[in-house]
Amino acid sequence: MTNFYEINGNKELLRQQLNYVALNSPFYKKHFYDNKINIQEITSYKEFRNIPITSKEDLQHHNKELFAVPQDEIIDYVTTSGTLGNPVSFALNEADLNRLAENERQSFEMLGIKKSSVVQITTTLDRRFMAGMAYFLGLRKLGAGIIRTGSGLPGLQWESIARFKPEYLVAVPSFLLKMVDYAIQNGIDYKKSSVKTVVCIGEPLRNSDFSLNSLGNRIKELWNIELFSTYASTEMGTAFTECKFHTGNHSLTELIFAEVLDENHQPVAVGGIGELVVTPLQVQTIPLVRFATGDMVKFYGENCECGRNSLRISTPVGRKKQMIKLKGTSLYPQQIINLLTAFQSLKIFVIEARLNETKNDEILIRIPDDLIEISALQEHLQSGLKVKVKLKKTSTKKIEEMKFSKEGRKPKLFHDYR
Ligand SMILES: [Zn+2]
Repeated sequence: MTNFYEINGNKELLRQQLNYVALNSPFYKKHFYDNKINIQEITSYKEFRNIPITSKEDLQHHNKELFAVPQDEIIDYVTTSGTLGNPVSFALNEADLNRLAENERQSFEMLGIKKSSVVQITTTLDRRFMAGMAYFLGLRKLGAGIIRTGSGLPGLQWESIARFKPEYLVAVPSFLLKMVDYAIQNGIDYKKSSVKTVVCIGEPLRNSDFSLNSLGNRIKELWNIELFSTYASTEMGTAFTECKFHTGNHSLTELIFAEVLDENHQPVAVGGIGELVVTPLQVQTIPLVRFATGDMVKFYGENCECGRNSLRISTPVGRKKQMIKLKGTSLYPQQIINLLTAFQSLKIFVIEARLNETKNDEILIRIPDDLIEISALQEHLQSGLKVKVKLKKTSTKKIEEMKFSKEGRKPKLFHDYR
């Protein structure tokens, strides 16, 4: 099997992290004991792989035992996004906050942000969200100029751009479409604004051949700015970032040890898709070892044209649990969401997955009953997915009710009834 992980991992930092965890984490003390793992015996990737993975369920069921520092050391409390299931409590101490700042500094530096840059953060800094603050801390460490506009409010975004002339935005890609919409409606000459580059979060931008996906293309057609993809999560506390060659997202080797594993927990070969399993390095408050993210990513290997030889992966092509099998083709809700988002006249939709009588997956997309371009949408989906999916005309009110359910803090575009 590949020896990528032997070459890539920062062995010394990984060893230190395992020592720290074995000494301080009640959860891992038990996990190692129950599974007869002696970390002193781990000298290669082969032995490291004997450590059983940690699942999302472990985080939910053993949240308290995962805390590895005394409570009075904790500074910042956050939660995971809770895309699947309930959000889990996370926290950071002084060392973790410094580490988070360093993580984001390296990530921003990779895509070209310098001390002289001005960056507008259009994501939330509060709401128990780790990333927003990470951006602020990372930019602060770089010494760049920061404008904290926060999420939403396209009017305030444009007013701030006119006022402070940022060259960079940190943004969710689909929000850029909202900003363009607002600019067009309000006669703002957005194409001549100071913004040249966007650090994108939360949504994939590219296909696995590195070309822009439909969402990326739609943004680019409307507004010719450079889009960088980043991928991170609270559990990882680390970002995977594109360099200027845009050929996958680099890992930061001093901050995370990453593996891409198949269903049998074997490393996938270059070009394969597998689950991202991470061991964040230098984390103190909630250290995780071989945490299975549930995110399916494509593994691009190492040796990038930029000269970095850290591991490169795609942003998630989907969630492991949400995989849909249609006529022998595996696909993920996110691929369908990307295609639907890119279809301009479609303002709202939800996707449903069910098992049919023969226990095979079935997909139904609810679209507004006043949508005219049905056959164009069908064609658009078929060319993107290579399989045919069912569309169902539904009242906008009903779709809205499904999308904005009372429980979730995020709109729910995918409803899994399997
Ligand atoms: Zn590179």
